[in-house]
Amino acid sequence: MSDFSIGVDLGGTNLRIAAIDDRGRLMEKVTFGTKTIVGRDQVLNDMCTAIRQTTAKYQTNGTLLGVGIGLPGIIDMKTGMMRESPNLPGWADYPVRAEIEKRMNTPVILENDANCAALGEKWLGAGRHVGDMLMLTLGTGVGGGIVIGGKIHHGMSGMAGEFGHMTVEPEGNPCGCGNRGCLEQYSSATAVVRMAREVIAAGEAPGLKKAASSDVEFSAKEIYNLAIQGDEGARKIFRRAGRALGIALATLINGLNLEMYVIGGGVSSAWEAFAPSIFVELRQRSMVWAATAPVDPLATPSGASAQVESVGGQQTIVTRALLGSEAGLYGAARLPIQRGC
Ligand SMILES: [Zn+2]
Repeated sequence: MSDFSIGVDLGGTNLRIAAIDDRGRLMEKVTFGTKTIVGRDQVLNDMCTAIRQTTAKYQTNGTLLGVGIGLPGIIDMKTGMMRESPNLPGWADYPVRAEIEKRMNTPVILENDANCAALGEKWLGAGRHVGDMLMLTLGTGVGGGIVIGGKIHHGMSGMAGEFGHMTVEPEGNPCGCGNRGCLEQYSSATAVVRMAREVIAAGEAPGLKKAASSDVEFSAKEIYNLAIQGDEGARKIFRRAGRALGIALATLINGLNLEMYVIGGGVSSAWEAFAPSIFVELRQRSMVWAATAPVDPLATPSGASAQVESVGGQQTIVTRALLGSEAGLYGAARLPIQRGC
């Protein structure tokens, strides 16, 4: 017998639902297309039906502790409403939690998706052996989450962790948030493609130009593939992304002195291409890093965990995420388990 919870990761394109037991073992996972086109109510109904079906299968094995749902947007933690949801049209100012609880008759916890990813990596991923950590998620934008004492730090109004909008270039590229030179203007997948197009336009990157003209879906992944093949133009883009991350992390490390800083999201698969530039910046810009850096900051994640254990958490670890796109799903499932603790 083990109690379990349901984790839901509701994105702009995919809806994923998992039953996970209180020790973090995945019991079942289902994935659907979100079909935002069919509308909010249909997505909600499909989601609740799938949660009920999954729950019915396992409720003879243990008690359902609740449902945790990761959503892309700003969530009002008190009222369970979404304040802003650019990727889920029609969901803003809608009582999401109340509507799901009404349909499910079980406690529901909503959480921002980047916070869920941070909690998932803390529970079962890169941060499982450390105390406090934060995570930067490099995707279409740059999200973030802070986990202190095993729990998400929300700040006054649930908005803590917006690291993607830290200024890394005072007069830099304009950002949708109203600022200029935000981290996500240099280290997101969107930024990698934009920077590639900029150097192509400046006539500085023949390899990138050739790839962009032959590929209609010129993506960050394509640019990474060129980088690992040694294309200098592509490598430069990732060095710039790493530099911006290093500048942001230097400030975070100086300000927070946490044990671990995890880099996740799709762009983190290009870790080898940008990570060395992070450490160049950290050495130059962070006194806390200088005092606590591991001998080999580029050691593998398992090596990093071993280092943390061996020195009792006295080193600052900057490392890549381990759970990939599953992090948010595990983090969402963790929420009801945590509340029951
Ligand atoms: Zn911004």
